Amino acid sequence: MTKTAIVIGAGGFIGSHIAKRLKADGYWVRGVDLKQPEFAPSACDEFFIGDCRNPQVVDFIIDQKVDRVFQLAADMGGIGYIGNVDNDADVMTNSAKINLNVADTARRQGVEQVFFSSSACVYNEYNQIDPQNPDCREDTAYPAHPDTEYGWEKLFSERLYLSYNRQYGMRNRIARFHNIFGEHGTWQGGKEKAPAAICRKVAMANDGESIEVWGDGLQTRSFLHIDDCVEGVMRLMDSDFEGPVNIGSDHLISINDLVTMVAEIAGKNLIINHITGPQGVRGRNSNNNLIREKLDWVPKQDLRSDIEKTYRWIEEQVKADQ
Ligand code: NAD
Repeated sequence: MTKTAIVIGAGGFIGSHIAKRLKADGYWVRGVDLKQPEFAPSACDEFFIGDCRNPQVVDFIIDQKVDRVFQLAADMGGIGYIGNVDNDADVMTNSAKINLNVADTARRQGVEQVFFSSSACVYNEYNQIDPQNPDCREDTAYPAHPDTEYGWEKLFSERLYLSYNRQYGMRNRIARFHNIFGEHGTWQGGKEKAPAAICRKVAMANDGESIEVWGDGLQTRSFLHIDDCVEGVMRLMDSDFEGPVNIGSDHLISINDLVTMVAEIAGKNLIINHITGPQGVRGRNSNNNLIREKLDWVPKQDLRSDIEKTYRWIEEQVKADQ
């Protein structure tokens, strides 16, 4: 019997990569999104354009007992988007509606497993003040104090999927992604995240010019390549562990050092011009103790070569766009 899966958000960055992996693993895949994938045709067997805030759309998409549902759809973007109060109500309402619809419809159709993509943005901002020593162990998310409404919605939806596990015996799985980047990710337009934005700025700059960085650049993050992320998701779905578990890199790097790395890859000497802008928490790093313990696996995370692959891809997009 062919295994079956539905990917919600299959037109997005991570959703389109998950659909591709599911096809490679022999699944029949149905995808839905507000839009087609931007950079390559969808790998899904069936792809529907639809708005999953609408329960009738979700009933139409999850109309049978598939083996697995992967829920990647969210109203999201980098810190310039989720850190902007003008988007607060939309971010919470749109994503919560999608999750309420998906959890309930999957349960009614007898689907056993939904994968839910939560985020490192759930972590308490007080544990992320020291850029060199952020604490993102899974059990520190409570008492809760995320710095954005996006993080609060993720916490709510984590609890939602876990409540279906308890009340209805589902086997939903939850990962908290930490800054996933890679080829075919959003690289311009305001919803891109730091690695893509930096790659774009470096690709567009001439040798000797300056590029703008929000804040003093001493804020730290870790970045995980999409291939590691997809592998972690598949392993979590195959495991007995429901999560939430971090899927991220524990290679901490400051934004200034990331710019230097990208500039070196590009072979350019660039000056960093620090400007006022949204920065999010001061430091954030994945703690990988729990994933190591529960899945006996950690991402291989080779930041320099992963950033290089992504830089080359964004450089091509920038050239094609000019
Ligand atoms: P993305 O924006 O590329 O993908 C999300 C997709 O959801 C988009 O294609 C969007 O069109 C779709 N979508 C939004 N509203 C929808 C609706 N009402 N109906 C149908 N589709 C809708 O983002 P991504 O980076 O691929 O993220 C995937 C998931 O992982 C999201 O839930 C996100 O919150 C989570 N996440 C991502 C990261 C990261 O670093 N990329 C980090 C933490 C968590």
